[in-house]
Amino acid sequence: MSENKAKILVVEDEESIRRFITLNLNVAGFQVGEASSGEDALGLLKSFAPQVVVLDIMLPGISGLEVCQHIREFAPETIVIMLTAKGQDTDKILGLDFGADDYMVKPFNPLELIARIKAILRRTANLRNTKQIISDLNLRLDLAANKFFKNNAETELTPTEFALLKTLMENPGRALKRDDMLDTVWGEDYFGDTKTLDVHIRRLREKIEDNPSQPEYIKTVWGYGYRWRQES
Ligand code: CA
Repeated sequence: MSENKAKILVVEDEESIRRFITLNLNVAGFQVGEASSGEDALGLLKSFAPQVVVLDIMLPGISGLEVCQHIREFAPETIVIMLTAKGQDTDKILGLDFGADDYMVKPFNPLELIARIKAILRRTANLRNTKQIISDLNLRLDLAANKFFKNNAETELTPTEFALLKTLMENPGRALKRDDMLDTVWGEDYFGDTKTLDVHIRRLREKIEDNPSQPEYIKTVWGYGYRWRQES
């Protein structure tokens, strides 16, 4: 599927903002669905089956964060980009904590949103085209099936966590610079800060490590970045 034909669901209760985002995504060639509440969004997740959800945090009724949690549970391969208002710094981190792949602070340039959506779609398409399995000790990353197993039990990863884990596992024993990891996983046109990366690493550790505070796989290289353990 070409990245521009991807289906995107825009969830935002403020009509002017929702229309503005929808219009820009339509012009860029995407198929766009719209929801003005969390309830509508949950319904459209099934009937419209979007690849990407652009999700406002502040919604009446079911909040964006609850919708995000629901997506992670029932449609884990869906890419989630949270929208947050300026100054809601905790919300940014909350969005990532709830399993969002990225966030944008309102007001934003719609071209930047489109660039990020394209980068993230390219990344996931590349993952699907690769046919191999990477494994280390009790972990197995099946790139063809887009699945991750710990102790032979499938563990759900978000698309971003999957790409991050692939990058790390492909470079055992090598210290990876945080900026380079951001470029690889989020795309070179991403201007986010490295805090985003740290939050995703923390979440990833919680899923793959037996003891996340004493990580065996993902080591911190202080003042530099992260390193996958050296294969013995
Ligand atoms: Ca809102």
